[in-house]
Amino acid sequence: MDRPVPDHRGPELPPLVFETVAGLQKIFQTTSGEIVLFPSSGTGGWESSLVNTLNPGDRVLAFNIGQFSHLYAECARGLGITVDEIDLPWGSGVPADLVQERLRADSQHTYAAVLVVHNETSTGVASDVRVVRKAIDAARHPALLLVDTVSSLASIDFRFDEWKVDVALTGSQKGLMLPPGLAVLCVGPRALARSAQVRSPRYFFDWRPVLTEMRRGYFSSTPATLMLFGLREAVRMLAEEGLDKVFARHARLAEGVRRAVRAWGLQMVCKNPREYSNTLTAIAVPDGIDADKVLQMAEQRLHLSLGAGLGRLKGKAFRIGHLGALNELEVLATLAGVEMALHLAGIRVPLAAGVSACEHFFMEEVATLAPR
Ligand code: PLP
Repeated sequence: MDRPVPDHRGPELPPLVFETVAGLQKIFQTTSGEIVLFPSSGTGGWESSLVNTLNPGDRVLAFNIGQFSHLYAECARGLGITVDEIDLPWGSGVPADLVQERLRADSQHTYAAVLVVHNETSTGVASDVRVVRKAIDAARHPALLLVDTVSSLASIDFRFDEWKVDVALTGSQKGLMLPPGLAVLCVGPRALARSAQVRSPRYFFDWRPVLTEMRRGYFSSTPATLMLFGLREAVRMLAEEGLDKVFARHARLAEGVRRAVRAWGLQMVCKNPREYSNTLTAIAVPDGIDADKVLQMAEQRLHLSLGAGLGRLKGKAFRIGHLGALNELEVLATLAGVEMALHLAGIRVPLAAGVSACEHFFMEEVATLAPR
């Protein structure tokens, strides 16, 4: 990325764009979906997924299972879309049975889309998109399936084609291991057809002109040119390691973190082990303690950056991110830092217990890995 900026209308662009797009399609596990890039962030991805598939006044089904699920619904509301947002306790995933029930009851097919956040970054819960799709199919409902993969893509298995997702979106700054700055969308044929019909006002986030140009290897406005070089490298790195190995690495690192949490005697926000996120773990702090104090101690005394509790979990939980470019030793160092920060914040977990539990687990696993 650290290079002179090439002319984005020049000959360097098409090979760069084509290789990157092909790599991203492999990561979304699609041959039918087309890739659209915007200089933006995940939020721009939300907006683009909505304005291109829905009219103001259209009705969508959403589930409030965490802060980002709620904000995706808020984004839709801000665009004049009618949102039925089902409020649920935070700590569980999107309930497929409820999706089926709601869609079955909608005999007039008034729901134009179902919004799902694959990996809820505020709670550390990964919803099962495959069963949500099955629920939509079981209800024989034509609603589009729009999926936020901001904190899952390229770290957790996500299958655009197999799960018949209509639009998936992410940002560059998580599993793609880049700085923030890009919104990445994968757009399926049904969503593409819908974008030609909807009348919602849109300009920058209209994916049609971008797609037209990207098919030729260019962009309709100035792209985040240097980010594209980083993105190409990210897709190369993921291909070199192999997606299956990337997912297995994240599963291993996440399990190591969970073993540490248990050894500390603390509770995870995620209630159902089948929904544990392999990209981040949200940890509840004991009553009477401000979770933000853990963050403060980690930052100020240890130069360790942890995630804050968001929305309803503010002050009640903190989060350990374990996605993207990360290995065992980095996780162990992080856990050592978390133990120290917990102590500094007055939560007297047994020192070294989390590191030890995680290290024992890694030892079992590392012995089975092929040498590099
Ligand atoms: N969706 C999820 C699941 C997220 O975790 C985030 C941010 O962390 C967003 C959307 C919003 O993305 P951004 O902050 O890149 O606009």
